[in-house]
Amino acid sequence: MYGKNDLKVEQDEVHLPKRGQVLVRLAYGGICGSDMHYLADGGIGTIKVQEPIILGHEASGRIIKVGDSVDGLEHDDLVAINPSRPCGLCKFCTEGLFMHCLEMRFNGSAIRLPHQQGLFRDLMVLEASQCIRVPPDTDLAALACSEPLAVCLHAAKMAGTLSGKRVLITGAGPIGALCTAVAAKSGADTIIVTDIYDNTLKIAKEMGATECINVALHPDKMERYTENKGYFDTVFECSAVSSAIKTAVETLLPRGCLIQVGVAGDTPVPINAIVAKEIKFQGIHRFHEEFNVAVRAITNNNVDVRPILSGVFELKDIEKAFSIAMDRSKSVKVQLKFN
Ligand code: ZN
Repeated sequence: MYGKNDLKVEQDEVHLPKRGQVLVRLAYGGICGSDMHYLADGGIGTIKVQEPIILGHEASGRIIKVGDSVDGLEHDDLVAINPSRPCGLCKFCTEGLFMHCLEMRFNGSAIRLPHQQGLFRDLMVLEASQCIRVPPDTDLAALACSEPLAVCLHAAKMAGTLSGKRVLITGAGPIGALCTAVAAKSGADTIIVTDIYDNTLKIAKEMGATECINVALHPDKMERYTENKGYFDTVFECSAVSSAIKTAVETLLPRGCLIQVGVAGDTPVPINAIVAKEIKFQGIHRFHEEFNVAVRAITNNNVDVRPILSGVFELKDIEKAFSIAMDRSKSVKVQLKFN
């Protein structure tokens, strides 16, 4: 990506893996909302794309060459790729807050300069520590959902216990759909999912929602949940739309937990109601140990991510892939397939 709406597919040399590295042939790469914001808006919130960047941070692949001093990975192994590389040394890493690392290198992220180059390529050298080996019969398209699933597992961890709870999920894109699956697996009693598209809500139903509400067609259906100071214990807000945040606050019980997973630029938030209902407003940033948990959940088929996969495109059709991905009425998770 050279700038706003400026995408090129180019050839480049790949060097051989050095000590502790592996050469990976990528299989699938999921297009994330942040990739779309980078391309369509030149950034997201305070993050601005300031130099050419290879997008992509959700990918799976196959090892085709192993460098020296690599244990536990061999030629032909299938791997999930963890895009997160905290330094392990800074004050946040030493406190165990790896997602807040001051020297974080996260593939395909424009947060820091120089930008970290991403995973949308046929071949690339990765640190062996980024590659999590999986069984040879693993569905590599599903495996490429490990990263967004890790985000949702982290969101669930920050929410505390969900068993027996009433949960609202606002926004049924990939993150909302995966949060639905995680809430269902965690034993939530009620999982209501809202969106403005019926097709995404249909996927949320497949992922474990007890009820789906199209708030564009039936805004009145949320009103009953505002009575007597609210209904839900926990909301996973996955849209970053101001009206959805307002609904979340209105329908949460006093001292309920609003987990803000969706991101956007500055967004109006009903501070008065948050204060008056003593709502816990919790942001979510990435993940750490949850990545390996997500990989295991997918390889064990503990979480079936496949319903969210709505299209696969070859690299030559990358512009079409992005345009379908950006059309929420048509898709949930669009992936690129590499050679
Ligand atoms: Zn660090």
